[in-house]
Amino acid sequence: MIEFEHVTKKFGDVTVLDALNFQVRRGEKVTIIGPSGSGKSTVLRILMTLETIDDGVITVAGKPLWHERVNDQLVPASQKHLREMRKEMGMVFQQFNLFPHMTVMRNVTEAPMHVLGLSKEQARERATKYLDLVGLIDHADKFPSQLSGGQQQRVGIARALAMEPNILLFDEPTSALDPELVGEVLGVIQKLSQEQDLTILLVTHEMQFAKEVSDRVCFFDKGVIVESGPPEQVFCHPQEARTQAFLSNFI
Ligand code: ADP
Ligand code: MG
Repeated sequence: MIEFEHVTKKFGDVTVLDALNFQVRRGEKVTIIGPSGSGKSTVLRILMTLETIDDGVITVAGKPLWHERVNDQLVPASQKHLREMRKEMGMVFQQFNLFPHMTVMRNVTEAPMHVLGLSKEQARERATKYLDLVGLIDHADKFPSQLSGGQQQRVGIARALAMEPNILLFDEPTSALDPELVGEVLGVIQKLSQEQDLTILLVTHEMQFAKEVSDRVCFFDKGVIVESGPPEQVFCHPQEARTQAFLSNFI
């Protein structure tokens, strides 16, 4: 579903992703862990086409992301191609990124109407379904500021789901929350992780949670994958010294 082949990303002189090779299968739930600054968010932001790449090829759902094929040659992607590719993915951000001046309902209907071209009725029907799934249908007419952080993040999840993407990206979805609000958000992600079709890429420091929901865990450091495997293996029997050192911070 997702493939990075030799992807390099630099910010000025700093190489953030260093010829990264990385694959996620359709329906797979993969967690990325790693120290701050190791390139985790950059991977997600590149997939959302919020950042470009300097070298390599990324394929999403069988199609090149940052390139397109014209007469059998890979050329830089057009805006039209990028718009099409974005429909494959939805992202949930650490800081929620809700529109503060819009109600919960409008936060969720906005993109389906303006990006997918749904009618207002169709968009409200969808939004109702996903707000119900995250347990917030009774809050549809409130503004984000009237909700707790946990509720705001659940709106963020409903908003991503309302685009009905094949891939959901989560960037530290609980890091901005007070500890007592983390569980309600993880509960929703747990529910989604049981969906067979959905491909999930999750960046988190919630190691116990990662252990429960992931098919595979990837430890990132300095723009490369140091170690990757089933959660029991990476968490309980890490092979690499860097992984062991990182995980020792969480005991
Ligand atoms: P992580 O999410 O693992 O903490 P990031 O992917 O956010 O790491 O960042 C990786 C590195 O890239 C960091 O050194 C960060 O400072 C740098 N970086 C990220 N975004 C930018 C940017 N827009 N401009 C310059 N440097 C950036
Ligand atoms: Mg980050």
